[in-house]
Amino acid sequence: MIEASGLRKLYGQTVALDGVDLAVRQGEIFGVLGQSGAGKSTLLRCVNLLERPDSGTVTVAGRELTKLGERELNQARQRIGMVHQHFALLASRTVAGNVAFPLEVMGVGRRERDQRVAELLELVGLGGRGKDHPRQLSGGQKQRVGIARALAGRPEVLLSDEATSALDPGTTESILGLLKSLNRELGLTILLITHEMNVVKSICDSVAIMENGRIRESGGIGELIRTP
Ligand code: ADP
Ligand code: ADP
Repeated sequence: MIEASGLRKLYGQTVALDGVDLAVRQGEIFGVLGQSGAGKSTLLRCVNLLERPDSGTVTVAGRELTKLGERELNQARQRIGMVHQHFALLASRTVAGNVAFPLEVMGVGRRERDQRVAELLELVGLGGRGKDHPRQLSGGQKQRVGIARALAGRPEVLLSDEATSALDPGTTESILGLLKSLNRELGLTILLITHEMNVVKSICDSVAIMENGRIRESGGIGELIRTP
């Protein structure tokens, strides 16, 4: 579902990605684990071409994104949802307005949008909270809004950038549970980056361990991480 090959990315003298290959199968939860500075965010941003790699190719759901121009890329990106560590919600918009935002950009009409937003809020356990503002929500609820917004375009793939790092342990568990259930029920493929072993242990099928811009090891969760 996601294939990256030979990705390199430099920032000045810093080698953020030093030849990364990645293969994420359809329907799996794939975790990239590594310490701060390892290159995880750069990798994630190269997967949806928010950042252009200096070399290498990225293919998502059969489309080679590294070949596309900006216009085609914007369309292809609608099928790739992204969840952010600090939620990235618009404070001036209601919860429903935040979830509706990508649908507005896609040109989905008012009626269909309202219905879709209601379904999405229901799906993430926030039915009835559409009229609230983000400031009225807890961290976990804000992340649920972030997830609903990421799913608005019915993506095949969800990218998660440290989705639970700003949350307390109990809330982390409930958000991970939500991601797992979306993976099971919608068949959603998830690529997540994290610095927390617990995240990987609790929901990932496969894991890659990243260090200094390279993948040191990767494989099935059972092969790489021994659970006590
Ligand atoms: P991680 O997500 O694992 O913490 P990053 O991908 O953020 O790692 O960073 C990898 C390396 O690239 C680090 O040395 C970081 O300082 C550098 N880096 C990341 N983004 C930029 C940028 N926009 N400009 C300059 N250096 C960057
Ligand atoms: P996160 O852990 O959420 O990736 P960071 O503080 O690492 O947060 O990065 C925040 C932003 O700053 C990112 O867009 C990243 O690309 C950029 N960044 C990271 N390291 C550097 C750097 N050394 N120089 C310039 N920008 C950087």
